Amino acid sequence: MKKYIGAHVSASGGVENAPLNAREIGATAFALFTKNQRQWKAAPLTAESIDLFKQRCEEFGYTPRQILPHDSYLINLGNPDADALEKSREAFLDEMQRCEQLGLDRLNFHPGSTLKKIGDEECLTLIAESINRALDKTRGVTAVIENTAGQGSNLGYTFEQIAYIIDRVEDKSRVGVCIDTCHSFAAGYDLASAGGFTETFEHFDNVIGFKYLRGMHLNDAKKELGSRVDRHDSLGKGTLGIEPFKWIMEDGRFDGIPLILETPDEALWPEEIRMLKGFVK
Ligand SMILES: [Zn+2]
Ligand SMILES: [Zn+2]
Repeated sequence: MKKYIGAHVSASGGVENAPLNAREIGATAFALFTKNQRQWKAAPLTAESIDLFKQRCEEFGYTPRQILPHDSYLINLGNPDADALEKSREAFLDEMQRCEQLGLDRLNFHPGSTLKKIGDEECLTLIAESINRALDKTRGVTAVIENTAGQGSNLGYTFEQIAYIIDRVEDKSRVGVCIDTCHSFAAGYDLASAGGFTETFEHFDNVIGFKYLRGMHLNDAKKELGSRVDRHDSLGKGTLGIEPFKWIMEDGRFDGIPLILETPDEALWPEEIRMLKGFVK
């Protein structure tokens, strides 16, 4: 199978439970939080937890290229307030180090937010500097910038903004991108029509480049094109419809990276994964 397909599974009780939960739903990829995503501080990973995580990943056939850890939602790497920025940078470094300990090679995060206190370019520059600092202190983990819906003052909703950050990252070999289908549509990229889909990914390739693509989030959307509202729906039940997910599965440009469901009804994940696997040619 060239396509790695899964969901953002629970790591409740310990990171070592994530591969178990992924296997249970028939996933060949998975995403996880390596700590509670709503808290700043977390106890360090124990040696037992790390060993068991690695052991289970090996046993169930999950290699690092099939796993897309996600950082805490509290982190804002472009925070205009100096103290708050420092807190975010420390937490982000901790997240990168957790990935390092688990033998994982990428960390997915939302770029950051201006909080309407600074200009977009100033904020994007802070984000790039935050990434540079974390990369400087870690080895082997790629910082994977997720495109956003552009809700509130969140940046990263255009490919140009993401390219602006990448331009300012010193080690280009350890920066990447995750494209979320719902966020793209909410941000105004029309993935629902065949023409729009083709155009969007041509534009993506021109502005950022497929060589930076390290993962995808496969979510249908609850709101209309350009709504700037981040509300996921189950595949085929929202405003994107099922077609774009077929096109992704049939397209070789999306091979070999984790393709992750963040759809709201977890009970549907086994069925959604089975359906996606069925679309692969
Ligand atoms: Zn996402
Ligand atoms: Zn989202």
